[in-house]
Amino acid sequence: MNIVMAASEAFPFCKTGGLADVVGALSQQLAGRKSNTVLLFLPHYRNVRRVSSLKVVPGVYYIPVGGKIEQVTLSYINWGKVLVFFVGNRKYFDRPELYRTKSGEYVDNDERFILFSRAVLEGCKFVGFRPDIIHCHDWQTGLIPAYLKTVYKLDAFFTRTRSLLTIHNIAYQGHYSYDSFEKAGFHPVDFVPNKFEYYGGISFLKSGIVFADNVNTVSPTYAKEVQSDPALGFGLEGLLKYRRKNFYGIVNGIDTEVWDPEMDPLLPMGYDAATFSKNKPIAKQQLQREVDLEENTDKPLVGIVSRLEYQKGLDLALGVIEKLHNKVQFVVLGCGDPSLEKQYRTLAKKYPQNVAYVSKLDEDLAHQIYAGADLFLMPSRYEPCGLSQMISMKYGTLPVVSKVGGLLDTVIGYKAGSDNAAATGFFIDKFSTAGITAALETALSLYPNKKVWNKLVKNAMLKDNSWDKSAQDYFELYTKTVA
Ligand code: ADP
Repeated sequence: MNIVMAASEAFPFCKTGGLADVVGALSQQLAGRKSNTVLLFLPHYRNVRRVSSLKVVPGVYYIPVGGKIEQVTLSYINWGKVLVFFVGNRKYFDRPELYRTKSGEYVDNDERFILFSRAVLEGCKFVGFRPDIIHCHDWQTGLIPAYLKTVYKLDAFFTRTRSLLTIHNIAYQGHYSYDSFEKAGFHPVDFVPNKFEYYGGISFLKSGIVFADNVNTVSPTYAKEVQSDPALGFGLEGLLKYRRKNFYGIVNGIDTEVWDPEMDPLLPMGYDAATFSKNKPIAKQQLQREVDLEENTDKPLVGIVSRLEYQKGLDLALGVIEKLHNKVQFVVLGCGDPSLEKQYRTLAKKYPQNVAYVSKLDEDLAHQIYAGADLFLMPSRYEPCGLSQMISMKYGTLPVVSKVGGLLDTVIGYKAGSDNAAATGFFIDKFSTAGITAALETALSLYPNKKVWNKLVKNAMLKDNSWDKSAQDYFELYTKTVA
């Protein structure tokens, strides 16, 4: 199958969150299957990583954005079996960050992703690749399915091309004014509620949901939640319900080459499900040293690696740390909301032996936390899928998670009084500071009972959250979409 992946980020080239991990790993997985050819299109940001050997496609092509014609270049790299194309336009992508600076979103993000979406389609023609399917990710590429069904409807090059839109987080919708609809070049006759119009403007994500041949999100539970709960559907629940026959839930996997405690070069000693009790404490000690906490491997250590945003519920975790810091150590790695960052910084200063806070994006430290912690806290208000809980399980660090979305689909919760033959973590029953504290206390009461604890660690490490099954599910959905 001829597959085009279109996304605004992909690991290892550019990343702000889980989207990048998913796009990178899924592209590789699909390209590894016989008879698939995978082209991945990404914006050519200034700070694209690992592309020293970029080659340039000779020539340029042009994309209209509003009243202007923009020049686009394509560079490429062979990345395993995936051919990665970087869409170049200095004005829009030669910037320090992907989407925003400290002072807010780039004000022309609408134009940037109008250009990108159309440049993916024109780019296919430019390199002579007819896709059977274009797999679009999130609002930044939501206009591609819309272009295929409107502006490119009669274009013979795309007669056989179908589209799939994956929603990684429905809270981010790319909602702009009518001006952006005009800039994108759609016909005014299509500015109606059952096509583009959304509260008087245009929503790039809604457009994608309306026009894509199929739509999916990243876990079966989240797929149900966004249709049934207005607080989680963020205004799109009605549309998703309307499209339910074409709306699927496929849980993400993790890249087990990147996340492998046995071979991880960032750990002092690798470990697997047979050797964790000997070698995991060494990772814990290294972590305590690295972030300047009291070196004591007997003290339970809770890790957090996360964006500091409302979604993640980490405002409530502040109170939990206040309550438990005497019994437990906390290592928090995350950045985002400045007021939350400030509060975490204050807590770390107040309890320097037991609370550490690092406010940056740091892949290396993330690996050390996943390995060195005993518990991983993820009290999300909502969670489309979540990768961190799967990574922490792989590293034998038991997740303590809310009962929402993909967390429900990937963690098997401990239940007091049952045999817990398959349990891999702990659920937070009530979403509040007291509820999170109670869940952590349940976990802590089990911590000294090494027989049960180690059983859970082993279950977690052996749980298969690799991409094998999910990539197969995507391939089957592609097949259905193309048929
Ligand atoms: P989301 O995509 O909502 O941010 P996920 O759990 O799906 O959440 O994925 C988060 C990914 O980003 C994980 O790979 C996690 O390790 C990583 N991550 C989050 N914050 C940081 C950080 N400050 N430094 C390094 N990695 C981070």
